[in-house]
Amino acid sequence: MTTSTPTPEAPRSPSADFVRDIVEADLKSGKHNKIVTRFPPEPNGYLHIGHAKSICLNFGIAQQHGGVCHLRFDDTNPAAEDIEYVESIQEDVKWLGFDWRDKMFYASDYFEQIYEYAVELIRRGQAYVCDLPLEEVRRTRGNFQTPGQASPFRDRPAAENLDLFRRMRAGEFPDGAKTLRAKIDMVSPNMNMRDPILYRIKRATHHRTGDRWCIYPMYDFAHPISDAVEGITHSICTLEFEDHRPLYDWTLEQGPATCHPQQIEFARLNVTHTLMSKRKLLELVKNKLVSGWDDPRLPTLQGLRRRGYTPEAIRDLCARVGVTKFSSLTELALLEDCVRNDLNSRCPRVMAVLKPVKVVIENYPEDQVEELDAANHPMDPALGSRKVPFCRELYIEEDDFREVPPPKYYRLTPGREVRLRYAYFLKLERIVKDSSGKVVELRCTYDPATRGGDSPDGRKVKSTIHWVSARHAPTAEVRLYEHLLSAAEPGDIPEGDDLSTQLNPKSLETLSRCRVEPALAEAAGGSLWQFERQGYFCADSKDSRPGAPVFNRTVTLRDTWTKVQKGGRPA
Ligand code: ATP
Ligand code: MG
Repeated sequence: MTTSTPTPEAPRSPSADFVRDIVEADLKSGKHNKIVTRFPPEPNGYLHIGHAKSICLNFGIAQQHGGVCHLRFDDTNPAAEDIEYVESIQEDVKWLGFDWRDKMFYASDYFEQIYEYAVELIRRGQAYVCDLPLEEVRRTRGNFQTPGQASPFRDRPAAENLDLFRRMRAGEFPDGAKTLRAKIDMVSPNMNMRDPILYRIKRATHHRTGDRWCIYPMYDFAHPISDAVEGITHSICTLEFEDHRPLYDWTLEQGPATCHPQQIEFARLNVTHTLMSKRKLLELVKNKLVSGWDDPRLPTLQGLRRRGYTPEAIRDLCARVGVTKFSSLTELALLEDCVRNDLNSRCPRVMAVLKPVKVVIENYPEDQVEELDAANHPMDPALGSRKVPFCRELYIEEDDFREVPPPKYYRLTPGREVRLRYAYFLKLERIVKDSSGKVVELRCTYDPATRGGDSPDGRKVKSTIHWVSARHAPTAEVRLYEHLLSAAEPGDIPEGDDLSTQLNPKSLETLSRCRVEPALAEAAGGSLWQFERQGYFCADSKDSRPGAPVFNRTVTLRDTWTKVQKGGRPA
């Protein structure tokens, strides 16, 4: 796999790509006058950011040309599917900003039509009922070196096939006893064309059709028919379906379809340090390695939303990555860069101390409280300002103080003066420790002449630190996240490997005694903030309560993407 390195200046709205070129040419030539695409998720898991790429492409193309994109649930495999997934998928597509209008369908809506289609193929001598058990079907297909062997049932007369297929539907045979197979070519170099199975017998309760059916069509058969029924013009899917395209076309050419959508394949989105397979995501959820499908570490749209990622940022990523035929791996840092770009302009700034250490200002009057002006956004005066309380006792960040400073450390150290953001110059006079040597508080003095953060005598300080008033700052829980997987390339995980050993042990750090500005006590779930010098944070939509807020760190302020571009991956 190659690593994609689009530049930050890359276009933000979807630019031309080979799929859009095909669509435009079809409109120009008059092949189509209205574009109809579809997004066809199987409701067997929650949508992830890979699906977002497909959603942006399918809905985006339709939008661009005044067409329509259908949302179609590909629910042909009842065993793994569930209504919970159907609901979450609708929610997520809407959240991403797309609208299927009244065009929501289910492949199961077409079960009768698909069945009739199969009957017609049998009549035309293009399909037969095969009595080989599934393992035998698989074995006799051969492999890339060996041609397949014809099934002994391949030349059954159409009348017998019709009768058997009807009886398969009627439930006369046990699961797996028979299949309906396409009669194509057992020596085709394309394995998908070696008499593929079209229908199997499976007694499973379907979330929509209940027990009405005991035979279910295979995806490769149901998909082209569903596309044709809906009058799809361009059936856009990912590269692994390229080898299935001949079967897609065969199905539509040999059967009674009245339209023939064009299947076009593009490369999936892969992102470093995470995984996109629904099966593996389900494993993480089931084995409780994460807190649920919406765990903020997951690449699911629900996880990303809970983390504070915005639809704008995700759409921007999809636009920046573009649509190609080449498999590639996108740096997580690029996604984070999209998030940072979006949050920078929209998030109000606040102060929060994640690892507090107490400061006592000895020359500040005990009972005095001042309300100081703090700008909500340094670049956007329209966002206004707020008052933050200041008094004798504050909290500052543990990291903003060193008893013995390392070289080039400009923050608080004994005898040194720093600026308290929006407030005063502060000087460290004395460190108070407990009997074990742990720092209990920092005794400081302030310079009343420096209100607002400037010294009238032109005295300079080398750093500005954030703070909160000890008496006024509510306690908050803050969850810091890192990437989910230790390995950069998800492909590194061997099949069947225990996923728990692959997780980054530092993917979640919970800090429970953070102190935040008073305004944050009531932060609404989902609200987004920049904690000055710390990053962007989102009030957790599930666990945050008025008076006991919980924040997820969405992304740090560090621009790791610039580093990636200068060479090398961020650590
Ligand atoms: P998974 O492998 O995670 O189970 P899937 O492809 O089986 O995914 P579907 O529900 O069938 O999941 O996907 C719906 C649509 O989304 C399909 O058209 C599929 O090609 C597309 N899609 C899935 N994953 C990606 C991805 N990583 N990048 C782009 N498109 C994707
Ligand atoms: Mg699929």
